[in-house]
Formats: sequence, C-alpha cells, structure tokens
Amino acid sequence: MSDPTRFDLDDRQRAMLAEMGVRVWWPATPVAPAAQARLAGPAPEAAPVQATAPAAAPAVVPFEAAALPPRAAPAAGPVTLPVPIRPLAEGVDRMEWTALQETAAACQACDLCAQRQQSVFGVGDRHAPWMVIGDAPGQEEEQTGEPFAGQSGQLLDNMLQAVGLSRKAKGESGVYITNAIKCRPPGNHNPTAPELATCAPYLARQVALVQPQIILLMGRFALQSVLQTTEPIGKLRGQVHRYQGVPVVVTYHPDYLLRNPADKAKAWADLVLALTTAQG
Ligand code: SF4
Repeated sequence: MSDPTRFDLDDRQRAMLAEMGVRVWWPATPVAPAAQARLAGPAPEAAPVQATAPAAAPAVVPFEAAALPPRAAPAAGPVTLPVPIRPLAEGVDRMEWTALQETAAACQACDLCAQRQQSVFGVGDRHAPWMVIGDAPGQEEEQTGEPFAGQSGQLLDNMLQAVGLSRKAKGESGVYITNAIKCRPPGNHNPTAPELATCAPYLARQVALVQPQIILLMGRFALQSVLQTTEPIGKLRGQVHRYQGVPVVVTYHPDYLLRNPADKAKAWADLVLALTTAQG
C-alpha cells in the first residue's frame, strides 16, 4: 500500500473509472510527493469544483476537482445512543471468526431474525488493509450470502479495482467487506436505531479482528452505526474520522450512486482520500 506510484492509473483502472462514470485527469508520470501533499492538505472552505485544469485536457474533469482534500471537521451531531433490543450472546467481544460468524447466524437479539433466510456476515481477506462497511443486506445479498451483490456489488467492485483492490484478493490488494446489520430488514426497510445498536457488537468485533488500516463507510446507516451520528453523508465526507483508533472515510452507498450517477465523482474523491490516508 505504500507504492508512491500508486496514483499513476493504468489502462485497466482508467477503464474502471470510465465504467463508474468518472472522468479523471491525471499526469502520465508518477505523482510527485508535492502533488500527493496537495491531496492531503487543507482545502479552502468553498469546494473548488471549478479547480484549474491543465490547458492540455480541457474536456476532462480535473482530478484535483474531484479529489477534494479533507475539510476541517465540524462537530458531528451526537445522537442519544439507542438501547439494544435484547442482549447478544455472552462474549461476542472476545470471539474468534468461526464462533462470531456462527453466533451471528443463529442470533435472535433483534426482530430481523424472524424472516431471515441466512445472515450476511462478510466477505474478503480477514487480514486486509481495507475494510468496507455498508448498511444492511438486501434480497440479493441474502440469497448469495455476500454483502454488496448485484449491480450495487458490481459498482463497488469497479470502484475498488480503480484503486487496486479486490474482494477476492489477499494481502495488500485485499479488502474485507461487511454491513452494519447482518440480517436483511424485511421489505428492505431502513434499519432502525435499536436494530443498529443491537447488531453493532458484531461489527465492532469484526473491526477488532481485521485491524484494517482504513475503513470506508458506505451509506448513512453504516456511519450511523460506526460514528454514532445522524449527520448526513454530505456533511461528513471529506474528513478523516476514527473508530477503534482506525481512520474512517465516509462515502455514498453504491445503491445511491446508481440512482445519482452525478455523485460518482465525489465517491471517487472519497476513495482517493481513503487511499492517501491508508498510505499514511
Ligand atoms: S440483525 Fe444483528 S442483532 Fe439482529 S438478529 Fe441479525 S445478527 Fe442479531
């Protein structure tokens, strides 16, 4: 993850970005440290969407325009912590992977277990440097048993491949993917605050086991569970938050991006922020 030429996108990554709908200008040569520092440096308050593009590439959205550096973090609005519906099994915070997954599969701590066909625990390298956390499984996820399935999963895979990551890879290209909620809310209803609070210890233990270098939160229920706030994604993205001491970057859920493709450039900027943060 420390390769300084990582931002020199190859043809495959450019193709992935094109598929995401993101048009990127980036120099053909490896990025100088000063340019990377620009990515990580403070930004003026007014987001420079009209940032200066190189004269040679007028028809392409300048990379700097999409890659907004972190803003000064406003005080996130705290929420009154909801009370778990029923206690989880004893010792979730100390369980290893097999026990944790089996306990979640048999869990009856909230009412989402009632219509559960199977829980959706997580996929990917359990020692990956990246961890992606989404909201809750939908119908396709419940059927496949994997988070981020179908079109949404395809878009996520393309986004990850654009920064050299894959849910099938091990080691530095690996990523562990899960959701804040492990069982599908019937009718795809929004997870409630008590449901999120009840399921949160499973996620906390997964983070403690993976010990990622960076967490990417995708969706408002993921950030509600992890960051304990109801602030909108638009207000929390562009900053680096912390969870269990791990840097956290917030972005839009792929389902949202499929409905709002104009915001894919912002998601790309968030990926770049996560990448630069992970590279430290
Ligand atoms: S959603 Fe979480 S807390 Fe609720 S039954 Fe499933 S595993 Fe248990």
